[in-house]
Amino acid sequence: MSLALYGIGVSRGIAIGKAHFMRGILEVLESAIPPDLLDDEIRRFLAAVETARAQLRALRKRIPANTSVDIASFIDAHLLMLDDATLIHAPVELMRKHGCNAEWALKLQRDAVVDVFERMDDAYLRTRRDDVDHVINRIQRILLEKNQPDTESASLVDCIVLADDLTPAETVLLEHQGIAAFATEYGGPLSHTAILSRSMEIPAVVGAHGLHNYLRDGELLILDGLQGLLIADPDESLLTHYRARARAEQLRRRELDLLTGQPAVSRDGVAIRLLTNIELPEDITAVNHHSADGVGLYRTEFLFMNRDKPPDEEEQFECYRSVVEGLQGRPLTIRTLDLGADKQVDSLGSRCGANPALGLRAVRLCLKDLSLFRPQLRAILRASAHGPVHMMIPMLSNTQEVRQVLALVNEARNALQRSGIAFAPDLRIGGMIEIPGAALSAAEFAAQLDFLSIGTNDLIQYTLAIDRVDDEVNYLYDPLHPAVLRLIKMTIDAGAAAGIPVAMCGEMAGDPRYTRLLLGMGLTEFSMHHTSLQEVKRVINTSNIASLRPLVDELLTTTKAGQIPARVESLNSNLTE
Ligand code: PEP
Ligand code: MG
Repeated sequence: MSLALYGIGVSRGIAIGKAHFMRGILEVLESAIPPDLLDDEIRRFLAAVETARAQLRALRKRIPANTSVDIASFIDAHLLMLDDATLIHAPVELMRKHGCNAEWALKLQRDAVVDVFERMDDAYLRTRRDDVDHVINRIQRILLEKNQPDTESASLVDCIVLADDLTPAETVLLEHQGIAAFATEYGGPLSHTAILSRSMEIPAVVGAHGLHNYLRDGELLILDGLQGLLIADPDESLLTHYRARARAEQLRRRELDLLTGQPAVSRDGVAIRLLTNIELPEDITAVNHHSADGVGLYRTEFLFMNRDKPPDEEEQFECYRSVVEGLQGRPLTIRTLDLGADKQVDSLGSRCGANPALGLRAVRLCLKDLSLFRPQLRAILRASAHGPVHMMIPMLSNTQEVRQVLALVNEARNALQRSGIAFAPDLRIGGMIEIPGAALSAAEFAAQLDFLSIGTNDLIQYTLAIDRVDDEVNYLYDPLHPAVLRLIKMTIDAGAAAGIPVAMCGEMAGDPRYTRLLLGMGLTEFSMHHTSLQEVKRVINTSNIASLRPLVDELLTTTKAGQIPARVESLNSNLTE
């Protein structure tokens, strides 16, 4: 009898293969250590830390040269943690205080650290918790003499790997061992492991609670990375169905691969710019690999997270310079700090108002705290001397904010000039349209800026009054709401009338279901996560924009709200899966 288990699908694709449990849950027990043996126990702990360090260094050397993801930096982060007092000195203190064994002290410290992470509101920071777990598990395994995880030894070709959790380093090695897919008991869609599975295109499901209870090592499994589904012991009809879906998926990928390096041009000859969104400097490896036209959104606030003090001008400059140089001539759109709301950082103290999403965030925060904003403006200007850099201002609500930012940029230019520091004189400055009021007055913004970019994630949040991080109202999040579509269209039209480019960098831009709709609205620049690039390109290259335009015009003007999804689907009707 087949059994189905649901988790979160984080990387699409179908896999059929034998289950391989990588390792069981580590069971850690408390035991009392007599005072005269405590020093020995502490030495055992420190030796385990040393072994963990040696394992990680060895692993770093084994990273295959053709890995497209900068996995070395993940391993370096874990090595740094092995020097951190919170993870290394604190357990020693706990051993002395409680007279307990090393495993137990490490578990107590792990629980304390994880508790702090879990109380954080920031989804990205919560994912750093996974790194803490990965490092602690490695030490625990050594203490428990379970040796290395079997990613580092066994052959796993065509297996569906099942694990409590996987480190990013393990994930890369698994891919090189030819696994078919993986599923983990824990983890979320924003974890580095989930991000890696998408970059490496390994079908994956995370958060599949009950793996250990319901699945058996060696049994046949089907994994559907799109639906987040695992099926154990499938019958013949299920196997036939999923084999056909796997073949269709393989074909789809092969077709998409052929598009890498090709331009995005519609059937009627309109060239479309396909850009990527990045959060971290290492993301540029994938940008180059997927031959994107550049970066349409660099979320710089990630540089300000996980630290006690904000980065100074010099550190920001070095970071932006390395990114633009790494892009080898492709343009880099640096968004100025978009902190606040769901992206709070410790280094600036908590500034949550009663309604953080409507409060002091993004450009509002920057204009209020010039000691935060000025170094970033100077760093961006300085980086512009090293490659094509554009600057983008988030969350604009009125044109006074644009004037203030432009005045500050001029001030920074003058100061740099006086000091003889290089910058590009023609840095293009654009703004994000993310607030309904800004979309309604997009023409005024277009008159003052060099480009606009539509942030649909926030635009939808504010238009429909739904907190984008609140699960309870998630069902109302609707990119096809007629009000949202009108605001997008107004922004695109305002840019066209002013003769400036308009891009879209919210999630809607990377969703191929909406590509034709957006093309028909006149959008010519799309910025998205790199894994969506070829799929969106495929839709563009099979579309005729001239014939989409009247259909989309009609859809926007006369179609009743309830019929819009079906009409949008019909625009895509000649696309094959
Ligand atoms: C958006 O709001 O659509 C956007 C791209 O910005 P972020 O998701 O970083 O708020
Ligand atoms: Mg936004």
